[in-house]
Amino acid sequence: MKIICIGRNYADHAKEMKSELPTTPIFFLKPDTAYLKPGEPFYYPSFTKDLHYECELVVKLCKVGKNISEKFAHKYYKEIGLGIDFTARDLQEQCKAKGLPWEIAKAFEHSAPISKDFIQKEDLNWDQLQFTLKKNDEIVQVGYTKDMIFKVDQIIAYVSQFMTLKTGDLIYTGTPAGVGPVKIGDKLSGFINEKQMFHLEIK
Ligand code: MG
Repeated sequence: MKIICIGRNYADHAKEMKSELPTTPIFFLKPDTAYLKPGEPFYYPSFTKDLHYECELVVKLCKVGKNISEKFAHKYYKEIGLGIDFTARDLQEQCKAKGLPWEIAKAFEHSAPISKDFIQKEDLNWDQLQFTLKKNDEIVQVGYTKDMIFKVDQIIAYVSQFMTLKTGDLIYTGTPAGVGPVKIGDKLSGFINEKQMFHLEIK
């Protein structure tokens, strides 16, 4: 299983990061060791002093495909979950400044917690979806699928030009504005519409 993450897919987040809007999807990978089993605690890594949450809708691939056309991309996913793309922001800034790849900031152990449950796409009004992240009961991020710069079908078509997508692969579809730091003891809860999808404590 590979984890594909989309960067700068919401204009308001690109703006808060002072990044240009992309003209094609930007993606990077996390290894399968970034997966955090739902319900397991997350331990603050020792190599960063500025760990940030990025709450993202996650699409699970249900079919193998390469060079998938946008027209058929909807056949390659049925389930939607919610996850966190944990980011060591201090390391990412250092990598960016040097023009280096940012794996150390993004691909580390357990950097991709995800909801236990996934929702069937057909049970959702996918184009009108809202997702929310609460930190210690305060709402810190609210996103809407309608604000995605690149829609999931476009992302699948784009990424599958470069690599085969496999059943079980996960696509983290980007984060809206409101990213910020966490500290030990913080609790994060994610919601799709009104449904709570995950609850995570930073240890
Ligand atoms: Mg992200």
